[in-house]
Amino acid sequence: MVVCESLVRIFRTGTRARDGVEVQALQGLDLTVREGELLALVGASGSGKSTLLAILAGLDTPSAGTARVAGTDLGTLKGRARTVYRRRTVGTIQQQTAANLLPYLTARENVQLPMGYAGVPRRRRAERASGLLGLMGIAEAADRTPAMLSGGEQQRVAIAVALANEPRLLLADEPTGELDTATSEEIFDALHTANTELGTTVLIVTHDALVADQVSRTVRIRDGRTSAEVLRRPRVAGAGGLGGLGGAGGLGGLGGVDAVDGEQEYAVLDRVGRLQLPREFTESLGLADRVRLVLEADHIEVWPDRDQPRPDGVGE
Ligand code: ADP
Ligand code: MG
Repeated sequence: MVVCESLVRIFRTGTRARDGVEVQALQGLDLTVREGELLALVGASGSGKSTLLAILAGLDTPSAGTARVAGTDLGTLKGRARTVYRRRTVGTIQQQTAANLLPYLTARENVQLPMGYAGVPRRRRAERASGLLGLMGIAEAADRTPAMLSGGEQQRVAIAVALANEPRLLLADEPTGELDTATSEEIFDALHTANTELGTTVLIVTHDALVADQVSRTVRIRDGRTSAEVLRRPRVAGAGGLGGLGGAGGLGGLGGVDAVDGEQEYAVLDRVGRLQLPREFTESLGLADRVRLVLEADHIEVWPDRDQPRPDGVGE
């Protein structure tokens, strides 16, 4: 559904290119998302998550590299085709609950609005809006305006709006950012429902450990690159199901970093062989600057470089 390869986005600030400051929001990001997947994207503030989502939403264009969604190349998409892509292929939900809905329209009218732009016949619009509000568990809110709804209800209406034109991909940028824990759970359930009931591929950007714990794959972005992945499998799968990656046993004693059964941390290996190790791992062993590599028959060992004096400031 989504293939990003060496994706780069550079922002130039300042009025003239000459005296402008360059910000590399994405620095060669690789990401693949399968159709039907529900994926969490995590990473510190400023790591490039929203920039990536804006590109996938067709609202921004990459500076270099490729981004394809459902076979559409977003680097070359222009004019009318871009508009159709934004209306039909993707749906988006923002963190600011208020930004997702028009305040003077009822929930039902908000959901029907994008269908109007896409040319869906009036009768079909009403049916589909009711169906989606029902699916989101807020049928009773159909005739209320956003001001009459709680934050959680507003976000569920927003998900129904995003789903109005049956998008292949749903992009949610910190959809639970303004909500309390119980309400966050509701929103996550609603996104999960969209994924399982409608088959929509869902990409959630979140700081919320609760959400990240419930999805089968979490991808971490750091400095504009995908740096690590956590896959969660049922306990019974154990290490054997993980393709001989050693299982959790080899990571024992790391104080919770990968202690959960059936959970395995992965790093992204890019096409030229670069690998970013999780900070918790490098800090726990004091790895810095240079590490010693040993190629074994079925794995690679990464050792501290004992010949070097250990630096005072481990990490960055
Ligand atoms: P995140 O969503 O992970 O917090 P963003 O994608 O919003 O991160 O931002 C990544 C980096 O790009 C940040 O350093 C941010 O300041 C910068 N950035 C984002 N949008 C713009 C823009 N329109 N102009 C200049 N810099 C930007
Ligand atoms: Mg952001």
